[in-house]
Amino acid sequence: MRKVGDVTNTALATSPLQAVDRCDSCGAQAYIRVVLSEGDLLFCGHHGRRHEAKLRPIALEWHDETDRLHAPSAPVTD
Ligand SMILES: [Zn+2]
Repeated sequence: MRKVGDVTNTALATSPLQAVDRCDSCGAQAYIRVVLSEGDLLFCGHHGRRHEAKLRPIALEWHDETDRLHAPSAPVTD
């Protein structure tokens, strides 16, 4: 949990996730940032999905970069 000092400073909350951003649950690289009124949470794809149902309704913002986990040019043959 990181504190958001200024609730109007949403530009920081929407900045891309970095390699140093880690899942609050397991420490893996974070791909999802959940912005709550009291701060923000970082999750890997696995834990983001696990907590989504609980956190989505109260999240101010749901920043999901899990599409970066997939190969950008992988052909879909079926
Ligand atoms: Zn995790």
